[in-house]
Amino acid sequence: MTRDGAGSPRTDGFRDECGVAAVFGHPEAANLVYLALYALQHRGQESAGIAAGDGERIRRSVGMGHVAEVFTPQRLEELAGTHAIGHVRYGTAGGSVLENAQPLRMTHRRGPVALAHNGNLVNALTLRSELVRQGSIFRTTSDTEVILHLIARSRAARLEDALAEALGQVEGAYSLVVADQGRVIVARDPRGFRPLSLGRLPDGAPVVASESCAFDLIGARFERDIAPGEMLVLGPGGEEASFHPFPAADPAPCIFEYVYFSRPDSYVYGRSVGQVRRAMGRRLAAEQGVDADLVVPVPDSGVPAAIGFSHASGIPFDFGLVRNHYIGRTFIEPAQSIRHFGVKIKLNAVRALIAGRRVVLVDDSLVRGTTMAKIVTMVRAAGAREIHVRISCPPTVAPCYYGVDTPSKEELIASHTEVEAIRAFIEADSLGYLSLEGLTRAVQGGDGEFCVACYTGDYPVPLSDGAEVRREMRLIDESVEEIGGIGGRQEKKR
Ligand code: SF4
Repeated sequence: MTRDGAGSPRTDGFRDECGVAAVFGHPEAANLVYLALYALQHRGQESAGIAAGDGERIRRSVGMGHVAEVFTPQRLEELAGTHAIGHVRYGTAGGSVLENAQPLRMTHRRGPVALAHNGNLVNALTLRSELVRQGSIFRTTSDTEVILHLIARSRAARLEDALAEALGQVEGAYSLVVADQGRVIVARDPRGFRPLSLGRLPDGAPVVASESCAFDLIGARFERDIAPGEMLVLGPGGEEASFHPFPAADPAPCIFEYVYFSRPDSYVYGRSVGQVRRAMGRRLAAEQGVDADLVVPVPDSGVPAAIGFSHASGIPFDFGLVRNHYIGRTFIEPAQSIRHFGVKIKLNAVRALIAGRRVVLVDDSLVRGTTMAKIVTMVRAAGAREIHVRISCPPTVAPCYYGVDTPSKEELIASHTEVEAIRAFIEADSLGYLSLEGLTRAVQGGDGEFCVACYTGDYPVPLSDGAEVRREMRLIDESVEEIGGIGGRQEKKR
């Protein structure tokens, strides 16, 4: 075990996944989706894209980078139409290259269709291997393209029926927005792994987004969640048809949306994310209380839990760590001789608050432990007398197969190391996690049951793609490398 590692609060562990949005029946559909994607930017920063339909055709624009980098006023103007779908991506299956940017688009015998996906399919490689054997040609390495191929092969006359047939063959997590020339179809997998909500603009036009914070930005009102296993068709003349074409399954929405992914100003699975995080902090204080002088969050995602911890414990709260928000994606690690400033690039300790104090450091997760070790070192160097690390979720012991890019099981420190040994590794005076019972109690009031597989290893849907098919598909994907071109190749930020 080494204390070296990546140097940012989030490069140590979970990465964001993807976000989707759709607007139907509005003359500014693409502009509204563009704004919605701004609100969902935290869910994926590798690529962004919008596809818009005007009744006759679909126009699509995608690019690598943040929403603000991808879209210019001219690009948005070209996305004319009254309905649009959009996507921000952090790739959890397939590389970080332009051809994997979504929405994906294809033309089949029913016409053009565009599709954007949040989640990860656990049998995509098996299906893809079979499709390749039967002659299909794939243009991307994304699991999402499998759905398009299955739609194209369906004999169903209507797109919604072909989509239902395709989704009946895939396993795993999907919150989807799909557009053809005249309609938008949205779908959520039967377990409801990833969130998806329906909202309404003041003129009655429906909007769909991964999180409700997107509605707030465009002046839409939250109406309801898309139910697990629901397909909703939005058509001309205000037509809205809801189906449940899949066999019922026990819902398993991702509890980690509450812990880290979703924005605190969002309502997810019917509850305020910020309020749930505060409740986690209160429970953490009750379970893992400690005599201390100051509660300090690891910004930004540790803030609500730290506030809850402070309220419940009576220990004052303050921002003893300050985050630099202006690093950007293109930060280049300098030469070896000066590279060990690591986490200081993103965080700095406020000596005036910390020196001589007994500090409770609150964070939302501890994955490899390398970043927390550096933060503890930094806080100690700022003069803290004691450092007590508190984590507002249980130890992460298993990787996610449903759309969250986690390190491998071996890299998850808690999968093979006891809490006391982790404490010694990060060199804290004490370390405490929220229990699984405490976490599930804090989120009670949502859908009821949750996926907690990364804390238990108990997967609601097993990974169907075996090692052999994963190796076979990786060899095929790695046998082609595109150099340069528009958007070029961008290495995944590992
Ligand atoms: S394994 Fe963890 S991160 Fe993945 S869906 Fe389940 S709770 Fe969420």
